Amino acid sequence: MPISREGRICSFCATPGGPGTDLSLVGGLGAQICVPCVEHFHALVQDAEQVSAKRKTLPWERMDDTELLATLPQILASAEQNASFAQEWVDMLRGRGITWAEIGRVLGVSRQAAWERFTKKPARKSASA
Ligand SMILES: [Zn+2]
Repeated sequence: MPISREGRICSFCATPGGPGTDLSLVGGLGAQICVPCVEHFHALVQDAEQVSAKRKTLPWERMDDTELLATLPQILASAEQNASFAQEWVDMLRGRGITWAEIGRVLGVSRQAAWERFTKKPARKSASA
């Protein structure tokens, strides 16, 4: 299956975007960023006062408990997006005839470990708990 650009979220704000939406995303190495986040972070890094103020505390130190909780599913959605991208990348490599030994070598694991990581289906998520 080819790598898809559809169904992606911004890795910085978790907003869905990409093809079929009004929100453009650009990305690399599995991470995606939306245009509003690019503009926000560009403005931030260009403003020395803001940079100085933001360096005094970490973002999560400025969040209340509700904001911290609301961010957790966004972090996991971004992590799952990256894991999915890695899977698609391996599928592409395999489609090009790259061996499990070569994939394992670049990951610093055995051929068998690489194969197990990318061919075993993840355990089904439980709806409870
Ligand atoms: Zn964003």
